[in-house]
Amino acid sequence: MRGPPAGPRVLLRRLREIMAEPISAQERLDKIVTQIAANMVAEVCSTYVLRSDGVLELYATEGLKREAVHHAQLRVGQGLVGTIADEARPLNLPDAQSHPAFQYLPETGEEQYSSFLGVPILRAGRTLGVLVVQNRTHRTYYDEEVEALQTTAMVLAEMIAVGELERLALPGTQIDLKRPVTVAGLSLGEGVGLGHVVLHEPRVVVTALIGEDAEAESARLDAAIASLRLFVDDMLQRDDIRESGEHRDILEAYRMFAHDRGWVRRMHEAIRNGLTAEAAVEKVQSDTRARLQRQTDPFLRDRLHDFDDLANRLLRVLMNKPHGLSGEELPRDAIIVARNMGAAELLDYDRERIRGLVLEEGGPTSHVTIVARALGIASVGRANGIVSLVENGDPIIVDGIAGEVHVRPPADVESAYAEKVRFRAKRQEQYRLIRDQAAVTRDGHRVTLLMNAGLLVDLPHLAESGAEGIGLFRTELQFMIAARMPKLKEQQALYAAVLDAAGSRPVTFRTLDIGGDKVLPYLRTATEENPAMGWRAIRLGLDRPGLLRTQIRALLQAAAGRELRVMLPMVTDLDEIRQTRALIERDLAHLRRHRHEAPARLLMGAMVEVPALLFELDRLVKEVDFISVGSNDLLQFLTATDRGNTRVSSRFDILSRPFLRALRQIVREAGKAGLPVTLCGEMAGNPLAAMTLIGLGYRSLSMSAAALGPVKAMTQALPTQKLSERLEVILDDSNGHDGIRAMLTGFAEAEGIPL
Ligand code: PEP
Ligand code: MG
Repeated sequence: MRGPPAGPRVLLRRLREIMAEPISAQERLDKIVTQIAANMVAEVCSTYVLRSDGVLELYATEGLKREAVHHAQLRVGQGLVGTIADEARPLNLPDAQSHPAFQYLPETGEEQYSSFLGVPILRAGRTLGVLVVQNRTHRTYYDEEVEALQTTAMVLAEMIAVGELERLALPGTQIDLKRPVTVAGLSLGEGVGLGHVVLHEPRVVVTALIGEDAEAESARLDAAIASLRLFVDDMLQRDDIRESGEHRDILEAYRMFAHDRGWVRRMHEAIRNGLTAEAAVEKVQSDTRARLQRQTDPFLRDRLHDFDDLANRLLRVLMNKPHGLSGEELPRDAIIVARNMGAAELLDYDRERIRGLVLEEGGPTSHVTIVARALGIASVGRANGIVSLVENGDPIIVDGIAGEVHVRPPADVESAYAEKVRFRAKRQEQYRLIRDQAAVTRDGHRVTLLMNAGLLVDLPHLAESGAEGIGLFRTELQFMIAARMPKLKEQQALYAAVLDAAGSRPVTFRTLDIGGDKVLPYLRTATEENPAMGWRAIRLGLDRPGLLRTQIRALLQAAAGRELRVMLPMVTDLDEIRQTRALIERDLAHLRRHRHEAPARLLMGAMVEVPALLFELDRLVKEVDFISVGSNDLLQFLTATDRGNTRVSSRFDILSRPFLRALRQIVREAGKAGLPVTLCGEMAGNPLAAMTLIGLGYRSLSMSAAALGPVKAMTQALPTQKLSERLEVILDDSNGHDGIRAMLTGFAEAEGIPL
């Protein structure tokens, strides 16, 4: 038996020279296998590349019959090579032919070879091919040789990833890395986006694979690991994390990995074999990912995320790359792909260039989703594994309506979507034509259409959408995307900018609706078992009057000399309105004392979103100047269904009898008292639901800006009286069956109402 190979380092250096030679891809591949065989004193060295049809095709060989190149093929799972690809693990066999999976390929002439060592060619945990060496004699390859071959496989992975081998593919075949993939996720934002992948955290591309000085590289790695450990320990010491919670669990997992001796040892080993410190991190990360990805245990799969994060961080430390975006130019049709990101990070991108957003995590009410919706970006969340499936620059389609992502779509899928986008654009054009018309129903009822907003980026939509004002300004969004509590001046500046942009159009500012799922990272609150029903919105505002008073002062000052409409969220008890009014009065008096200009007119309103108010409507109407129905929360509480829990959130129909009866009761009571009522939950932006609301008697709806066109088109075609009569009958019919939605869609169809 021979000793361990003389020098994987020598081999890597030689490969680097080959990579730089101005030769064809096939010649380069041939030279590489020849070099590996010579260096490892093997009679055979072969490279198989995985095709999109699941076949591993021989792309180059030294030792097997040359005619077999591009002919010899095995399916994933078939033969030794297929087994390696399937399991993403090396196979080291002294007597290959006695292995149960062995399959003889006559065209290769491999029957003379006894020992066999094969390793997967991996990139970001994905198998791209298999690299094999074989010898005539019976022998077991040393661990060092296995390691050396794995290291060498990285060079081939790079060649495949940069697309160098694509030209070698047989006609009609395709390398798997470029295979079209459809990933099903969760629809987060309407619309469809076609473009090219921009990884939010670009895989740090390790360009220097081959190290010159192993000792120096080892020292660099040690220093980087030390700084990584310090970072994790520092995080764990932070006050807000020291208490228990999800963050702490994640960081504990980080700490466990950061101190994992096996991890560190494997990286040092890779350096000894000739890699740079960063290439060593990448290699071990890819091996580990391949191993953990095959785990079905969700706990272990989650740990993979933690491990990945940590390895990426280590790479960044080593390569001196800050966290986040690199300064590279964004393409004009960027689709941002990320595990997850903060809302502020999304705002850092140039909006003009973003066509879509895809997240591996991300729920419908997460901050980044709210901002993406405000920006009108097609988004999909919970797209499992998307980050390791794509490369920067890959063509990609985000279908925010179906909740699907198409990576590297085939031409027919792409043209179908391009058609869809054109169709939507045409519809948008039709909406633009009616933008400046009033929303009057076919039978002459005037409906006011307003938009919801919360950020400066929303303001241009006021003019673009033709909204008659802002029916709901969610002030908490400014707080949610900030790194610290916005100061009085900052709040005032935002409110003044909103009022300036709105001009004579009314704006309804809702006081802070934080708490529940709307958490502020810098505001420490105790963990709650039922946050949606916990210390949130006006409850928190009244318990922490400092916060609410600052906001009220900012609103009063911003609205000097103008009308100010203030609305309270989550009102449960009428006393909450009285207390807030007292706070406002105090501040108004303060303003007058200091001879500041007060708002010309102050109107106070309440959100109707807690069911208790349904039984207080007769008294509520005497306390406020207007009300607005928060149908999102009202449905959540009326049906005891968590709006953020995708398992149950679509279980109960928003167009069901109990909910519509509740909505009718609100509009009736308000009508009797002559009190203005708006509905500002998401249903107002759905044409069928909006049609129903108008049928119930609502004459003011507030929705996302993008929904205004479709809702106005529906309104103009609606015979209101006829629908109201149908609704009265079906809602009052105590023997009636449940087909309300069917009645409504049937009505719209029969009347030719565009939905
Ligand atoms: C609602 O609950 O319907 C609403 C408009 O408020 P938010 O979605 O901000 O809770
Ligand atoms: Mg609400």
